Amino acid sequence: MTNPDPELQIALAERRARQLYRQRLTLDTAQGAAVRIQGQACINFSSNDYLGLAADPEVVAALIEGARRWGVGGGASHLISGHGGAHQALEEALAEFTGRPRALLFSTGYMANVGVINALARDGDLVVQDRLNHASLLDGGFLCRARFERYPHADLGALEALLAAPAASASGRRLVVTDGVFSMDGDIAPLAEMAALADRHGAWLMVDDAHGFGVLGEQGGGSVEALGLDLDQVPVLVGTLGKALGTFGAFVAGSEALIETLIQFARTYIYTTALPPAVAAATLTSLRLAQTQGWRRERLRELTARFRAGAAARDLPLLDSDTPIQPVPVGDSARVVAIAARLRAAGYLVGGIRPPTVPAGTGRLRIALSAAHEPLQVDGLLDALAAAWREVIPSR
Ligand code: PMP
Repeated sequence: MTNPDPELQIALAERRARQLYRQRLTLDTAQGAAVRIQGQACINFSSNDYLGLAADPEVVAALIEGARRWGVGGGASHLISGHGGAHQALEEALAEFTGRPRALLFSTGYMANVGVINALARDGDLVVQDRLNHASLLDGGFLCRARFERYPHADLGALEALLAAPAASASGRRLVVTDGVFSMDGDIAPLAEMAALADRHGAWLMVDDAHGFGVLGEQGGGSVEALGLDLDQVPVLVGTLGKALGTFGAFVAGSEALIETLIQFARTYIYTTALPPAVAAATLTSLRLAQTQGWRRERLRELTARFRAGAAARDLPLLDSDTPIQPVPVGDSARVVAIAARLRAAGYLVGGIRPPTVPAGTGRLRIALSAAHEPLQVDGLLDALAAAWREVIPSR
């Protein structure tokens, strides 16, 4: 028998030497602004729980009630016997909320993205994506049988060139795919311009609004609501439920024909167990809270402005983001790790993002704000960050 371990250990050691090794933390508490990690109290700036709903008492109560009513497990795939009343009610609520005729639940955003791209793009078709799209979208492109092209981040000229190229199959479908809010940069895709471009070239626009849904727009409808884009402009809309909505899962919203196509052809929908129905029941409650408690979005906007002003006052670099994702660019992975470790020692949990999650040489601290944060917690983070920055980055 051949033992794989020696070879695996060499690859692991090499990753460690490049400061790219990843390790999990174990939380002793529920997700939230204040957490405890292996005994240490930390203010958490590293979750996607933007609205502070992940451990909200009403959402927790809805999960418990949902489990009593529907049980825990889905027990089967949606197409066999796993689709229950809680799933159906949530799909109808998501369709109404997004202003689309129908919505379809997927077990995760990753699966939604891989499944949708593979169901829509076939041999002879063209899929075009932003280079900084989330890994699940890129994997959808790599896995599908269509030609897959990527363009430099938010470069509309490059996107147009790809769509206009004679080599782009004349008869096939064209699918343009983008994050709504870019997960590691916090900026919003130029969706109105992209919709116009897609329309001019007979392409379909697919937007993954994982980080915009619940956060952007007056009602929390995401980047498409904020920019006023309808079904014709964005025929394929993906949202996730594990971020602002604080639960788990994902959905695709669009036309009747789109949803029926996904039910027939999206393999990550067909060949997997339905989302736990109690989670669907909890999400119905968190969707209502996200819609009706506009103060959560208002507070996020205030905290975001406070963070940016405070960072500028402390001479910290920022990226051009108005969303709760506020990356601080560092570059070198060892420095990212060193600053994140100092913040952790000071009681602040911040994600140190390194390749391959971001391109080589663009390591960063990804600060994610939440409506659950207090203004003074943001100020404390800024002071700790400025101190760590001075220690790790030599001044010029
Ligand atoms: N899309 C984007 C933009 C994401 O950031 C993520 C999660 N990090 C996903 C999709 C995947 O969603 P899920 O966690 O539900 O698989």
